[in-house]
Amino acid sequence: MPVTAIVGANWGDEGKGKMTDVLAGGAKVVIRYQGGSNAGHTIINEYGKFALHLLPSGVFARGVVNVIGPGVAFHTGDFLKELNQLLDKGVPAPDIRISDRAQLVLPYHRLFDALEEERLGARQFGSTKTGIAPFYADKYLKIGVQIADLYNEDRLRERLSAALEAKNVLLQHLYGQPPLTAEELMQPLLQDAERIAPYVCDTTRLLRDALSRGESILAEGQLGALRDPDHGIYPFSTSSSTLAGFAAVGAGLPPAEITRVVAVTKAYSSCVGAGPFVTEIDGDDADELRRRGGDAGEFGATTGRPRRMGWFDAVATRYGCYVQGATEVALTNLDVLGYLDAIPVCTAYELDGAQTDDFPVSAKLDRAKPVLTTLPGWQTDITAVREFDALPPAAQHYVLELERMIGVRIRWVSVGPRRDQIIDRG
Ligand code: GDP
Repeated sequence: MPVTAIVGANWGDEGKGKMTDVLAGGAKVVIRYQGGSNAGHTIINEYGKFALHLLPSGVFARGVVNVIGPGVAFHTGDFLKELNQLLDKGVPAPDIRISDRAQLVLPYHRLFDALEEERLGARQFGSTKTGIAPFYADKYLKIGVQIADLYNEDRLRERLSAALEAKNVLLQHLYGQPPLTAEELMQPLLQDAERIAPYVCDTTRLLRDALSRGESILAEGQLGALRDPDHGIYPFSTSSSTLAGFAAVGAGLPPAEITRVVAVTKAYSSCVGAGPFVTEIDGDDADELRRRGGDAGEFGATTGRPRRMGWFDAVATRYGCYVQGATEVALTNLDVLGYLDAIPVCTAYELDGAQTDDFPVSAKLDRAKPVLTTLPGWQTDITAVREFDALPPAAQHYVLELERMIGVRIRWVSVGPRRDQIIDRG
């Protein structure tokens, strides 16, 4: 059975959570491989409405093992809070495994995230202040703390002390804050260690065994291609790779096993946080689209910030699908456009007096202007449609035109936030 990666083709919030929930039923293992609780997947199912930040989206499906892989930025408090929220709403206890190689988001990561954004003032990145950038910086500086370190008190004290040497200089002299001691961090961490102990294991081995049994595995990406630190809108990117290719690394899977990549994209664009966004609209058009997408949560699932809105961007999406290596596309939120009689779509960028189909590097992207074409709208409620042929002809045309522009087959069309509101073109 193949490994399927479900990833975002754009800026995040494409509806990956819903698509993972749709596809999780057929999988044995669902794995998160990057990022932390800095973004949210919204899932609406028979148990209610959930914003998952750290838990894999397979937690609602029976018989699924949910893995938090080595590449994840793991925050113990957030994990326990989310798990309890599920149990409180009557979701049967999910089977969750946390990699002993995953590293911990520590209290000082959140502190530094907030202090740095404050220091930057108007130049800030719009961080969710969940400590993700300081976490990955420490990981690559090799001063991070792995979950396995929690179970060796001396090693933990040593790791924390080593990290705090430099951090305390910054705290005192850059940010004017009191220094921290390893001792004050230890006690809560040791308590957390006990709470998460039942879930911690060698997940690389678990995945290897699952592969050898031929079980199907879903790797679930967070955010989208354009937030990738190498291929996205740097520096308005996130701090870990959002690409399907990184699933092999962050999960611990042989790259050749990832044979299906489902890229998720919305039928229009939306984006939380700062950075260039070529098809952005504002004023009444944006307010209307944001309001119509209200049920689609056009307010960030983690931050509650209103999302920036724009028309579908074929340049960004074609590029996003390419860097993801998309083999299939899921187009979400088509229902939201049902109020328009004509729908603008961006087919190219105008850059320095010429038209381009290529997605430019950040230094040029600021100067790019959208070249728009208009497709006919359908002005009908399509939320009850389950067959592609039953969609209004203009809606079918819209999907097929987008498919032609991005060059990858749109297999799924999502027509509402619920799990059953999906058209599978097979
Ligand atoms: P993710 O991080 O990619 O999972 O995306 P989010 O959960 O942040 O945002 C997607 C939003 O769209 C959520 O509120 C979903 O419930 C909602 N959603 C997903 N698919 C559809 C759809 O086809 N139609 C509508 N109206 N909402 C959808």
